[in-house]
Amino acid sequence: MIKNDYDVIVCGSGPAGLSAAFAAAELGARVALLEKQRELGGKIPYSGNGRCNFSNVLDDVPFMNSFGRAGRFMTDALRCGGRDWFCEHLRSHDVPVTVTDGFHYFPESGKAWDVVDSFLLPLQRAGADFRTDTVVSAVCRTPDGAACGVRLASGEELYAKCVILACGGTAMSAVGGTAQGLRIAQQLGHRIIDPLPAMAPLYLEEEWLRELSGVSLKNVQLQFVSGRNHGKTNGEMLFTYDGISGPAALSLSNEAYRIWLEHPDRFDLKLNFDTRVDWQRQIDTFRKQDGNKFLRSSLSSFLPKSLAHAVCKQLGWEERKNQTLKDTERDTLVRLLTACPLTISQLCPMERAMAMSGGVTWKEIRPETMESRLVPGVYFAGEIMDLTGPCGGYNIQFAVASGRLAGLSAANSLRS
Ligand SMILES: Cc1cc2nc3c(=O)[nH]c(=O)nc-3n(C[C@H](O)[C@H](O)[C@H](O)COP(=O)(O)OP(=O)(O)OC[C@H]3O[C@@H](n4cnc5c(N)ncnc54)[C@H](O)[C@@H]3O)c2cc1C
Repeated sequence: MIKNDYDVIVCGSGPAGLSAAFAAAELGARVALLEKQRELGGKIPYSGNGRCNFSNVLDDVPFMNSFGRAGRFMTDALRCGGRDWFCEHLRSHDVPVTVTDGFHYFPESGKAWDVVDSFLLPLQRAGADFRTDTVVSAVCRTPDGAACGVRLASGEELYAKCVILACGGTAMSAVGGTAQGLRIAQQLGHRIIDPLPAMAPLYLEEEWLRELSGVSLKNVQLQFVSGRNHGKTNGEMLFTYDGISGPAALSLSNEAYRIWLEHPDRFDLKLNFDTRVDWQRQIDTFRKQDGNKFLRSSLSSFLPKSLAHAVCKQLGWEERKNQTLKDTERDTLVRLLTACPLTISQLCPMERAMAMSGGVTWKEIRPETMESRLVPGVYFAGEIMDLTGPCGGYNIQFAVASGRLAGLSAANSLRS
C-alpha cells in the first residue's frame, strides 16, 4: 500500500491553487502547494496593474453569462466561493476591499500582494507545505486508475489521494504562463480545446489607424459578425501601434480570435467611435449652424483631435467645410463613425495575451465538485479549464471560486 505524504497536493499557486489549498486546509487536510516559479501567487501580483481587480458587482447569473454558453458550469463554484465569500475572506484577513467605479473590486490598499497573503499566511499557520521551484510533470495513478500523487520533473514522487491541477494557462510565459498543466491533463486522457489568446489586443491591418497609437476612447462599441456567430463589447478602447487594446478590445478578443481563425474571409468587425453621439443629427447641426467651419474641427469637439483629423483624411476631406457636405456624404461619414470596418491581421502572440481561451474541456469535469470525470482523485481549478471571462475581475473570481470548490470537495472525499 502507498504511504501518503499528504492528503491533498495542489499544483500551481495562482488564485485557483491558493484558494484550493486554503479550503482543503480549512477542513483539516494535510496540504502541499507546489509551484514551479520562485515565488508563490501565480499571476495575482501582476493583475490589475499590481492592484488586483479580483471581482465585480455582477450577480451570479450575469456573471456566468459573461463566460458564454458554458458559464452555467460554475453555478456550484460561485455558490461556495463567489464574490460575497471572497470579500468576506479578504476582510476577515485584514484586507479591506473597495469598489472603485461602481463595478470593479480591488483591495483597498491597492496591493495585489495583500490578496496573496490573505491565503498564504493562514496556510502557513495551518502547517501547509510550500514548495517553490518545483515542477510537476505527471499525476501518478494506482493500478485501478485513481490518482495517488504526482511525479516531479526532478524524478521525485509525492503521494496523496487527491491532486488538484491549478496550473493556469499558456498566456504570458514571462509571468508564469505554461502548457505544462494541459500536458498533464492530456496524459490523463482529457480533451484539450486548442489554447488561443484571450484578454488580448486585436492586431489590425488598417494602416490609417496606426498614427492614432496612444489615443484612447471612452465609449466605443466593437462588434463582430461571422455567419451565425456574433459578439459585442462596449467601453474604453486604446489605439496601439499595431491595432487596438483597452477593455472593449481585450474582452472581444476572447471569442473574436477563435471565430476569425475559422473563417477569416467571413469575419466582419466594426467599430463605433462613440455610442453616445447621434452622428446624423450632429452632422446636420454642423451643416446648419457651423457651415463655414472645417468638418475636422467640428468633429474635434466630440472626438480626440487626431482621430477627427484621421477620419477626414481617410475620406479625403481634410479641407472640407461643413456646408459643402451633401446628404449622401453625411451618410458615408456616419457609417465610418458608427461602423468603421476593421480587419484582423494576425493572431496576437500568447506572450501579449493576459489569459488563455481553450484548455481542459469542462464537459469532462464534474461541476458539483470540480473532480475529473475520467480520473478519480484529480480535480481542476481556474484558467486551466476551458472557461474564460472578459476584463473586469471575472477570471480571478472564477479561479478562486473553482479552487475553493475543488479544495473542499477533495478534503471531503477523504473524510467519507
Ligand atoms: C498582466 C495580467 C493582468 C491581469 N489582470 C487581471 C485582473 O485584474 N483581474 C482578473 O480577474 N484577471 C486578471 N488577469 C487574469 C488572471 O490573472 C488569471 O486568469 C488568473 O490568475 C488565473 O488563475 P490560475 O490560478 O488559474 O492561474 P495562474 O494565476 O496562472 O497560476 C498558475 C500557477 O501554476 C504554476 N504552474 C504551472 N504549471 C505548473 C507545474 N507543472 N508545476 C508547478 N506549478 C505550475 C504557474 O507557475 C502559476 O504560478 C490578468 C492576467 C495578466 C497576465
